[in-house]
Amino acid sequence: MPEGPEIRRAADQVEKALKGRAVLDLFFAFERLQEYEDILQGDTIERVDTKGKAMLIRFQRGYTIYSHNQLYGKWVIRNAYNYPETNRQLRLALHNEKKSALLYSSSDIEVLRTEEAEAHPFIQKTGPDLLSESVTPEDLFERFTSKRFRNRRWTSLLLDQSFIAGIGNYLRSEILFKAGISPSARPSDCSEEQLWKAAEASIDLTWQSYRHKGITNDLDLAAQLKNQGVKRRAYRHWVFNRAGHSCRIDGTEIEKIQAASRRLYYCPTCQKYPEL
Ligand SMILES: [Zn+2]
Repeated sequence: MPEGPEIRRAADQVEKALKGRAVLDLFFAFERLQEYEDILQGDTIERVDTKGKAMLIRFQRGYTIYSHNQLYGKWVIRNAYNYPETNRQLRLALHNEKKSALLYSSSDIEVLRTEEAEAHPFIQKTGPDLLSESVTPEDLFERFTSKRFRNRRWTSLLLDQSFIAGIGNYLRSEILFKAGISPSARPSDCSEEQLWKAAEASIDLTWQSYRHKGITNDLDLAAQLKNQGVKRRAYRHWVFNRAGHSCRIDGTEIEKIQAASRRLYYCPTCQKYPEL
């Protein structure tokens, strides 16, 4: 499933095609939404926000289109009415005089009044979005040490969208590695230094991944490896997808385990502590 950085990049593409222009024509595949075709036609799109893995298209006259791509949804931006050849089902189309933004395969689409969007069940239970809201390391530190979260394992917390929105499986492994935290630990087991590192790594790696197309590895090292002809999947991350390879810091073999039903990668020596 795409994670926050991939969704934000898709939102940037949609925003670039639609922002500041009137939508001349709309299509909703679902009958329950078709009444909005007339309501939204001619309205101008102000901006496109994200909340974790959800996208929020904001219209000037007070409506928001909410969409969540789950596993299969895909946005395609084309010149106006220039549909791609695909077997996917078109679920939503927004056309202006220059561009068409086409959402395929997604079934999770709603139209909400903007002032009511915050009360949407998904949005309400979703934690802070690091790419759309100004979240500081102090905010996250407070969250990590709160009663609500401190006694749950990091491995399940970092996949829980009510903890931090937009973090998914590759970011989970990468954040724990950068913070030097053992995958079996809970925030309450960690030193203050580890908690600050985890707060900073959550923010920094999410932003770096967004700005550098999914690369969470050290950027200089990634560039060097790329120049040597190393494939993207081998230089992209610190530990994720690297089982059996050497840790980039100390050479220990990276291990792969299942944690909260998803694969997790870690370095047994860099992530030795806390010892439980
Ligand atoms: Zn290591």
